[in-house]
Amino acid sequence: MRLYSTKTPSLKATLEEAVFRSLPPDNGLYMPEVIPQVSAAFLQQIEQLTFNEIAFEVSKTLLGDDISQADVRKIVEQAFDFEAPVVQIEENTHVLELFHGPSMAFKDFGARFMAALMSHFLAQSQQEIQILVATSGDTGGAVAQGFFNVPGISVTILYPSGKVSDIQEKQLTTLGGNVRALEVAGTFDDCQALVKQAFLDPELSQKFNLASANSINIARLIPQSFYYFSAYAQLKYLGQPVVFSVPSGNFGNLSAGLLAKKMGLPVAHFLAVTNRNHVVPSYLKNGEYLPKPSVETISNAMDVGNPSNFVRLTRFFCDDWQQVKQDISGFWFDDTQTRQAMTQVFDATGYIMCPHTAVAYLGLKEYQTLHPQKNTGVLLSTAHYAKFLDVVEGALGVEEIEVPQRLSALLSKPKVATQISKHFADFKAFLLQ
Ligand SMILES: *Cc1c(COP(=O)(O)O)cnc(C)c1O
Repeated sequence: MRLYSTKTPSLKATLEEAVFRSLPPDNGLYMPEVIPQVSAAFLQQIEQLTFNEIAFEVSKTLLGDDISQADVRKIVEQAFDFEAPVVQIEENTHVLELFHGPSMAFKDFGARFMAALMSHFLAQSQQEIQILVATSGDTGGAVAQGFFNVPGISVTILYPSGKVSDIQEKQLTTLGGNVRALEVAGTFDDCQALVKQAFLDPELSQKFNLASANSINIARLIPQSFYYFSAYAQLKYLGQPVVFSVPSGNFGNLSAGLLAKKMGLPVAHFLAVTNRNHVVPSYLKNGEYLPKPSVETISNAMDVGNPSNFVRLTRFFCDDWQQVKQDISGFWFDDTQTRQAMTQVFDATGYIMCPHTAVAYLGLKEYQTLHPQKNTGVLLSTAHYAKFLDVVEGALGVEEIEVPQRLSALLSKPKVATQISKHFADFKAFLLQ
């Protein structure tokens, strides 16, 4: 697999380079040079395959000769010991549940696969790396779980003190082993600035092999295409392509869906659905992309004002707005509508959606009203509702909602974090000690 930079197409990289660098040196994004097609035979019998068999086939097609088939199989087995089931909640409305992984959010797919891929490359070169990651909540948990106990890799997670939920903080601070948590007296932006500065520091880069687990890493995008294939397989009996409704922030998830379609997956249409941070739905409507500062909402993992994957998303269509619009429709909803959707679905069916999932639900319902002929819909459920307990209990008017054992067990574990200031000198001293 060869990749190019969206900014300078002549700037190429191997998969290994792209995975360890995350970003090309010109600050573009890595995109596959060629997008190969899956075989017709694979799509014909896909409903008989397990998730990991599908993941193997798609990876093998995409990665080409970079990694032997036996090793691709190992990477897939190491990454995915959880499923992505499709559950029907209403007529023509199915939920693709992406929250059965260790941190109970869809980011587990990307983080686990990236960890397995990095450890494959490191085993060959006998190197050790230090991953630095700043998190505002969900990413840190997935990365911590993804890299926990992976040989050759140690992880340092920086999070803003007092600004992540209790469950999120416990997901970052209770693993131990090769995962260290730094509680920074500052904001998420301060955490991100510390990480950036570490990468620029000559002494640190000489002493350590620093790497990032950034959300735009191509190794996080690739595995997110697998569950679109899996959803197709699970719904193939319906005999018609489905509409995917994707609750979006940085648009990695939707970009992975486009990758799956480019590889040959039959898809009727994609819905790009956001909260009040609606720069992409606005772009779809009028062709203008105008990044804005983000606003806070109850679906806070999607509070993004300048989505980092926007360039990738349009590149799949050669940056032609007319073509983008043919495959993707945009919708956005506010917090009041989101709470109403959570309540309405719970009252009618007993199914509990997290606020991000509810945004996708609203998008699907609106699209189905506008296009009754293309009405089989799958909405991507990006997190388990229990990760957002306060919002869910508030919206549903229910106290003491059941929390899965995996999350409640965390709350009783002791937090282990090192407190540091937001000054780079302190962070550097910590790394060097
Ligand atoms: C990260 C996240 C999103 C947004 O996904 P993108 O790929 O950034 O668009 C949506 N929901 C949840 C729960 C998330 O953690």
